Amino acid sequence: MKKVLITGAAGFLGSHLCDRFIKEGYFVIAMDNFITGNKKNIQHFEGNQNFTFIHHDVTKHINIDGNLDYILHFASPASPIDYLKIPIQTLKVGSLGTHNLLGLAKAKNARILIASTSEVYGDPLVHPQTEDYYGNVNTIGPRGVYDEAKRFQESITMAYHRFHGLETRIVRIFNTYGPRMRLNDGRVIPAFMGQALRGEDLTVFGDGSQTRSFCYVDDQVEGIYRLLLSDYVGPVNIGNPHEISIKEFAEEIIKLTGTTQKTIYKALPVNDPMQRQPDISLAKKLLGWEPKIGREQGMKITFDYFRSLTKEELYISEH
Ligand code: NAD
Ligand code: UDP
Repeated sequence: MKKVLITGAAGFLGSHLCDRFIKEGYFVIAMDNFITGNKKNIQHFEGNQNFTFIHHDVTKHINIDGNLDYILHFASPASPIDYLKIPIQTLKVGSLGTHNLLGLAKAKNARILIASTSEVYGDPLVHPQTEDYYGNVNTIGPRGVYDEAKRFQESITMAYHRFHGLETRIVRIFNTYGPRMRLNDGRVIPAFMGQALRGEDLTVFGDGSQTRSFCYVDDQVEGIYRLLLSDYVGPVNIGNPHEISIKEFAEEIIKLTGTTQKTIYKALPVNDPMQRQPDISLAKKLLGWEPKIGREQGMKITFDYFRSLTKEELYISEH
């Protein structure tokens, strides 16, 4: 039985990856310190013989008994309000945490995949974004703590590959959504859905002309799974190229949720990227991958999830 270590396992993407690897017949070692994650996301593994959980901060030395075949490093705050609230931890998990996991991968002779992001492109001047674009990041801006941690993460991963011959994979994830996102994590989908469910107006930042391209979680997990098992070392964009402005997106959410509320406008956060759309030609060619689930279908499933939360969960304002 192959063994995989998944960091950030109690988070949104990490918990879906645990589901996938369990389904594929792996033994899953899940690791998290719950800084932005939730025990509820992995509760369903209780009693599963092929699953074990380690409560650990990956910026501290990591000990794992026995062999390991794969490591997926997904631990990191991922939403702008999270990484603005805990900027130093964000820098540490991308740098020290990644260093620890690369060292572990080397010691165990395991293949490691690290979760990078479209944020390495910053506020992009190339559109759509291809993997060979170097990006446009403000190193000293408030978002820099996340963007630069992820850029460092990519660099140290390539250094371990080149210097130690480690088997490494880098996925550049574009905005992904679905069940188990934290309602109050500040990202646009939980924010709008929470507002609709509480009967509040939807807060569009700036004039809403900025764009994003949203990928449903099952498509993202499929892309990551294929990339891990591929033999390609360079970074690969995984996302859904279907782009929409935030203003139009708010209108879609109003229709979907049936809320009678309206959109209101708030200040645009500093360095908020104006446009984002993945060029997925590489993933198509290398992995035979492309997203299958459209926004309408994915948003419906996601709204059903948020609707199923308790009143207490719906009104919680702080994590
Ligand atoms: P999330 O906040 O739901 O999950 C992150 C998990 O990492 C949480 O459970 C958190 O407790 C854990 N964590 C954070 N620091 C840790 C530490 N020091 N030690 C142990 N655990 C720690 O976020 P997510 O959306 O699931 O994102 C997961 C990964 O994917 C992140 O690395 C993120 O940068 C990357 N990513 C996500 C998206 C997206 O759209 N969801 C886009 C780009 C990149
Ligand atoms: N956004 C918004 N209202 C909100 C939350 C976010 O208009 O209540 C905007 C945000 O400014 C950004 C887009 O939605 O332009 C996506 O934000 P998110 O935090 O989900 O992801 P990221 O900016 O990291 O792509």
